[in-house]
Amino acid sequence: MRSAGDFDVLRPATLADAAVLLLRPGAMPLAGGTDLMPNLRRGLHAARWIVDLGGVAEFGRIERDAAGWSLGAGVTLARLERHAELARELRALVQAAGAVAGPGHRTVATLGGNLCQDTRCIHYNQSAWWREANGFCLKHGGDTCHVAPQGQRCHAAYEGDLAAPLLAYGAEVEIVGALTPRRRVPLAALYRDDGAAHLSLAEGELLAAVHVPHVAPGTASAYHKARVRMAMDFPLAGVAVALRVDARGCLAALSVGISGTNSHPLRLAGTEDLLERPVDDAALHALGRLVARQVTPMRSTVTASNHRRLAAVAAAERLLGELAGLAALAPGVASARAAARDHAPAHALDHSPDHAPAPEPTRRPAAANDERT
Ligand SMILES: Cc1cc2nc3c(=O)[nH]c(=O)nc-3n(C[C@H](O)[C@H](O)[C@H](O)COP(=O)(O)OP(=O)(O)OC[C@H]3O[C@@H](n4cnc5c(N)ncnc54)[C@H](O)[C@@H]3O)c2cc1C
Ligand code: SF4
Repeated sequence: MRSAGDFDVLRPATLADAAVLLLRPGAMPLAGGTDLMPNLRRGLHAARWIVDLGGVAEFGRIERDAAGWSLGAGVTLARLERHAELARELRALVQAAGAVAGPGHRTVATLGGNLCQDTRCIHYNQSAWWREANGFCLKHGGDTCHVAPQGQRCHAAYEGDLAAPLLAYGAEVEIVGALTPRRRVPLAALYRDDGAAHLSLAEGELLAAVHVPHVAPGTASAYHKARVRMAMDFPLAGVAVALRVDARGCLAALSVGISGTNSHPLRLAGTEDLLERPVDDAALHALGRLVARQVTPMRSTVTASNHRRLAAVAAAERLLGELAGLAALAPGVASARAAARDHAPAHALDHSPDHAPAPEPTRRPAAANDERT
């Protein structure tokens, strides 16, 4: 690595001022700096102005109201990780925050920086001399993609952990702009399917906060991260599942967020087809098929693309099985099921699909190298 280059640091007190400063040519926002600084030192960006967001007071707020949680983009991952009330309601988010890098790192790394971090590729996250020796690449300084040389797009992967649970919870992001009105959009709309320019933020726009709606009572959620090094590494596939089961043990709600496999994190489409069904082998396979079709890992990591696809499938199936078992133990569901059993006529406890007792959740073996977080 080399020096981060020559730049001046500006420290605005409000988001509106920060957005105006970002209109300067060569200006870049800095939160914790854990992604930005290594990238500057690798020569991946050339900043003239660094707009340090650390002085913006509203940036670090965690608030809860009737609608849900408002999390300032500057909230550190360490605060998320240790927040007991958040852990009770948004368990997958807290697990994902705790799975990012190492503990020292998480004391400065922020939620907004995590969501806005650059995409990654073995041909890109290298020193300048390494990339030069390789002729650079399409994303920065060159004209060829070494991952897919026939194509004209970059397939670098988005590897932030927190986007997966936030997508599963249906979160929205609040954006502040110098030239655009303050707005809220679904988190998925923050991203574009392009490894070279994966954010949809316009010039002078910043992420101000993330809004997460309250989950319905009885919702169970968890995050699972497959990575090469257990101690500290980006996700090869990061999967979050949030679900509810009804008194019959059938799925009443299911959403899945996935990170690490595509140039953008994704909320799995088609999960509504699994609703009103028990969580049996067929449901696990159906979910696995949805995941396998929608993830598009390319050879942008040291691990084979198909391994990342299989890791995502295995994580989703495993979480579905485990969480359905957990959700079935929720007080409301357990007592409703017991009451249904007590009052049901004997024939209704047979094998009729509407009254069948919930099958035991099936556990599938996890793919190699994956880890329960
Ligand atoms: C050794 C190492 C291990 C890591 N491991 C992981 C990991 O396991 N999982 C993971 O997800 N990440 C990992 N990271 C990446 C990074 O540390 C985290 O994503 C972290 O959360 C980034 O937050 P930050 O506040 O430090 O962002 P910064 O570095 O300050 O910013 C990241 C990017 O987002 C932009 N930005 C920051 N805030 C805003 C905002 N509010 N609005 C608009 N743009 C903004 C910056 O300009 C920059 O481009 C790792 C990094 C390192 C160096
Ligand atoms: S996917 Fe291709 S263009 Fe994108 S960073 Fe990797 S080598 Fe470069």
